Amino acid sequence: MPNSPRYIFVMGGVLSGLGKGIAVSSIARLLQGAGYRVSAMKVDPYVNVDAGTMNPTEHGEVFVTKDGLETDQDIGNYERYLNVELTKDSYMTTGQVYLSVIRRERNLEYHGKSVQVVPHIPEEVIRRIKYAAKVNHSDIMIVEIGGTVGEYENLLFLEAARMMHLQDPASVQFILVSYLPIPHVLGEMKTKPTQHAVRALNSAGIQPDFVLCRAERPLDAPRKERISVFCNMHRDDIISAEDAPSVYDVPINFEKEGLGSKILAKFGMKERTRDLTEWRRLVTKIHKSKRTVSIGIIGKYFATGEFTLADSYLSVIESIKHACWSLGMQPKLTWLDAEEYEKHPSSLKKLSAFDGIIVPGGFGARGVEGKMAAIEYVRTHAIPYFGLCYGLQLAVIEFARHVLKLKDANTTENDPKTPFPVIDMMPDQREKLDHHDFGGTMRLGEYRCRLVNGSRAQVAYGTRQVKERHRHRYEVNNSFRAKLEHRGLMVSGVNPDRNLVEIMELQKHPFFMGVQFHPEFKSYPLDPHPLFVAFIKACIKKKSLRKT
Ligand code: GLN
Repeated sequence: MPNSPRYIFVMGGVLSGLGKGIAVSSIARLLQGAGYRVSAMKVDPYVNVDAGTMNPTEHGEVFVTKDGLETDQDIGNYERYLNVELTKDSYMTTGQVYLSVIRRERNLEYHGKSVQVVPHIPEEVIRRIKYAAKVNHSDIMIVEIGGTVGEYENLLFLEAARMMHLQDPASVQFILVSYLPIPHVLGEMKTKPTQHAVRALNSAGIQPDFVLCRAERPLDAPRKERISVFCNMHRDDIISAEDAPSVYDVPINFEKEGLGSKILAKFGMKERTRDLTEWRRLVTKIHKSKRTVSIGIIGKYFATGEFTLADSYLSVIESIKHACWSLGMQPKLTWLDAEEYEKHPSSLKKLSAFDGIIVPGGFGARGVEGKMAAIEYVRTHAIPYFGLCYGLQLAVIEFARHVLKLKDANTTENDPKTPFPVIDMMPDQREKLDHHDFGGTMRLGEYRCRLVNGSRAQVAYGTRQVKERHRHRYEVNNSFRAKLEHRGLMVSGVNPDRNLVEIMELQKHPFFMGVQFHPEFKSYPLDPHPLFVAFIKACIKKKSLRKT
């Protein structure tokens, strides 16, 4: 057993959006299957200290770790493939690195020396990588460097990687995820952009150990040969990474190329086991599940710029899939624009075509009246509903307005002067906002939730207490709780430490549940989230009822 961790740096070449995060997750899964403790971390070149201050349309979903850091969506991918919970040490940005160096300088910790970009910044990067490997007790730590090689932004991270390799060449490997286009007019796969990407990496002092060749089709022998010759690499280290039917097929594809064994061989490590059995079973199940269930997701982060709706709600989509596959179903997802219901209330009728509706997390006033109109429709038409965070808050407001007849009930997020603030800010949150202390200050990360015996949530979890991850500033206002409960909105989950509402459900409905937390951050392909499974079961039932 190696006593010091090994490191694999993964970088991107040619273009972004090649699925580097999936590649990292898949490699991690293969090495985990070989019997090693594997962890992964992401380096994001942004100056933002965390992902929490970025709009999802800019950067994709904000994923929250159990210890409350707002991170990149790739951390979610790592967790889903490794079936583990990672911590804040798994995410690093340029902003975090500079912030700690500057804090140390202010504390006189550099003892009068001039503090310089090189070496002090890469040294801090290295310190963080090694620390993450240590706290995770990793045999192997995989570090994904965001962006593509040749960009100014990630140079200092490449420099850190180069320095680590220089210090101990036997414990560091580099993998380049590159792209091989097949131009329409030529109909032939081209290797030149990849050759240039390797050269760009070489000019940062790094020679890749492997190139993962992303392409529409598998790589043929002549192309492997060409990359091998022009990039000064062994033929066996040029790995085909063609498009896969699902992201969960990728570990199996890499296994076919022998990638896990090749990495271990270069480290001088032995395969302790080779266990992909469960994963293969999952992939077979994914391909075998043919019957569909139709789910509508009402959102507002529609495609603008580089990131699309699917990125903004990535974990929600994956959670739906995990639950569906575990029940032998395939989800048919439809994106519904909340504002449509404000402009054209007659389109609410179309909701009847769905087996279930989800309102995921969100912020601000745009689209909320449309979301609430949709929630009222599904509540009164027995269509299964699952509200996540904002989806719970809006369901409570809708219930207060239409069942309790509290006209203009609202959240103080959108109407600070509402006569009925059924959703209100927690006092400690107000203090933070008064001080303009916005970044990383929401109620973040894991909190306890005690479940009411016999409730739908409790039955689904099969236990009395759970821990779930949060990201919000507003809460159900406890002064309205008795009235809401009196009219049938059951509080089925409560945070025992602060008596905060965590789950609400309607008993007289096929399935109507809202959760203040984000269950989507704790759903795994091999271990789907119980509340998503319960929701999908209700959707399947709805579908069969519609047929009869
Ligand atoms: N905007 C709401 C709040 O801050 C809900 C947040 C969310 O859905 N993540 O409480």
